[in-house]
Amino acid sequence: MKEILNFINGQYAEPHANTRWLDVFCPGTGEVYAKCVDSSADDVNAAVAAAKAAFRGWSKTPVETRAALLNKIADIIERRLEEFAQAESHDQGKSIHVARTVEIPRAVANFRFYAGRILHHEEKAMVLETSPVGPALSYTTRSPIGVAGLISPWNMPLYLATWKIAPAIALGNTCVLKPSEITPMTAFMLGEVCREAGIPPGVVNIVQGRGPSAGQPLIEHKDVALISFTGGTITGKNIARTAAPMLKKLSLELGGKNATIVFKDADMDECITGTVRAAFANQGEVCLCGSRILVERAIYDEFVQKFVAAVNELKIGDPSDPSTFCGAVVSKEHKEKILSYIKLAEQEGGKIECGGAETPAGLPEKCKNGYFVRPTVVTGLRHHDRCNMEEVFGPFVTIAPFDTEAQAIDVTNSVEYGLSASVWTTDIRRAQRVAHHIEVAYVWINCWLVRDLRAPFGGMKASGIGREGGDYSVDFYSEVKTTCTKYY
Ligand code: NAD
Repeated sequence: MKEILNFINGQYAEPHANTRWLDVFCPGTGEVYAKCVDSSADDVNAAVAAAKAAFRGWSKTPVETRAALLNKIADIIERRLEEFAQAESHDQGKSIHVARTVEIPRAVANFRFYAGRILHHEEKAMVLETSPVGPALSYTTRSPIGVAGLISPWNMPLYLATWKIAPAIALGNTCVLKPSEITPMTAFMLGEVCREAGIPPGVVNIVQGRGPSAGQPLIEHKDVALISFTGGTITGKNIARTAAPMLKKLSLELGGKNATIVFKDADMDECITGTVRAAFANQGEVCLCGSRILVERAIYDEFVQKFVAAVNELKIGDPSDPSTFCGAVVSKEHKEKILSYIKLAEQEGGKIECGGAETPAGLPEKCKNGYFVRPTVVTGLRHHDRCNMEEVFGPFVTIAPFDTEAQAIDVTNSVEYGLSASVWTTDIRRAQRVAHHIEVAYVWINCWLVRDLRAPFGGMKASGIGREGGDYSVDFYSEVKTTCTKYY
């Protein structure tokens, strides 16, 4: 059976005598297909020590060299794209089509983008004419910070790990990544890629294992200067409790309960296609998925009927089949959590319009023990019901009517989260007004999940603290210094 090891100081670390192992499941079949190291504080300490030692050299490495090395990582992942896509789909349950066309290409783009970004970076200088000492020249410089602790979730494993690693090392930091213990495979493979690319030992370290055993020692480590975390809100609060008193630089990208707001003048066909994708892409396991659909009452019945018809057309099945839209959800525990919300929806008085707790029909034999949940649409719930307030993070959406723009805004803002929303209308002034008044960090108008690496990304309220992406990542992964000199 494949052994998933830590990658420390440029090599895979041999397991020690008392290594604890975790089973790694293939969600599409329910089989254990690998075992993964559950790292301890000792392993984390070794990784941080390697990162700290490597920082001395890497932080002084010319920007052209760093950019060239990042581009090499991108080239190698691109060359091995199919292998990475197969591994991601097998490990996570997502459709191979999504892994091939979206997620692995995005990991490549993360490295290429930050390689280019650091080559084109400029800082400001200015002459202060009003200085009491006469003219003074003030300029800013930017320095790497040190060892970055990076913690990523299971829904888009390589995509989100590289969203952190690429800017962290591009800006001259070294890093220790702790991927999700549920989906460790592609991060494990990344170690080999770093070695082949010629990344100096210790610049990228990967420690595998569970949050309490491997993640907690990483965030508590005194030599870890900054932490970028993507995951659930409860975990994020816990990380903040540890890191804030240690004055670590902190970026938290957390959960969401995102609204999809549909006005009666929306282009119905475009809107159905877009909102079905927003609801069920990657089995609803995208933090940005629109899981609460609010529809203006005048078109509510027509929308529900067309939306449900479109959902019934989605192909659920074998993740390795490129025609599959919804693969398996990530784990048995996660499947049970989603099913518990389907049950709760009924208890709360909801009507299951499609989907439900039964296993999808027509799965191939090899998928009989996989973790599949039918895309489920619920109507008839009240806005404050738990199914409308809590993040499910699976193929589960609710649809409810609204009467006025003000009500749509109030309902959107009534949850604790503030991650994203989409607004569907042909009235652009209304769309921009609604976008302005809703408390979320990312709004799409007549589209969903159009992402650009230059755009800031993060969350408001319980969806996080800080922004990353483009200049925001440059700011997060570096320190700015102002130097002021008497000019003449
Ligand atoms: P999670 O919070 O359970 O785990 C995320 C990571 O944190 C994992 O690597 C886990 O091992 C680690 N972890 C757990 N406890 C820890 C601790 N005490 N110290 C350090 N690390 C610890 O989240 P998940 O279930 O893997 O992912 C799903 C969640 O992630 C959802 O809430 C989803 O909305 C969110 N998410 C947010 C974004 C975003 O950009 N805002 C993107 C993807 C996923």
